[in-house]
Amino acid sequence: MARTTAKTHEADQALREALEANGQRFTEQRAAVFRYLCGNTEHPTADDIYAGVRGALPDISLATVYKALETLVSCGLASKLSFGDGSARFDPCADDHCHSRCLVCGAVRDVPSLPVPGSMVGGRLSDDFQVQGVRLEVVGYCRSCTPVST
Ligand SMILES: [Zn+2]
Ligand SMILES: [Zn+2]
Repeated sequence: MARTTAKTHEADQALREALEANGQRFTEQRAAVFRYLCGNTEHPTADDIYAGVRGALPDISLATVYKALETLVSCGLASKLSFGDGSARFDPCADDHCHSRCLVCGAVRDVPSLPVPGSMVGGRLSDDFQVQGVRLEVVGYCRSCTPVST
């Protein structure tokens, strides 16, 4: 068996176990969405994912992609990043981590060098606020959008 095939099979098996542990079925559509997400570091939108998986699954619909994403998020296999303008992007890493977001093109990247105050999780911010997670976003301009100073 080729190495890549074995790797894909292993990833599918892990996905199958995670889905079944949450009472969800393993489907080819969910697997395709998950695979696309794991191979992408750009935090794609549902539309990006839809465009990306249509090559492998020409019959898949955007609604199916949305549902597959919801399932992955509910199983803790991915996280959804929602923005104030109503847009959303998806991240295969469900752990708390920092993001940078470009104010012009909307590109979202991980910032592994910026530590998340993980000690806060599960604790309390004040008497009336219990912390469930930390979302840290740094905003600015990416390399291609940096305004040229004149
Ligand atoms: Zn940009
Ligand atoms: Zn991320």
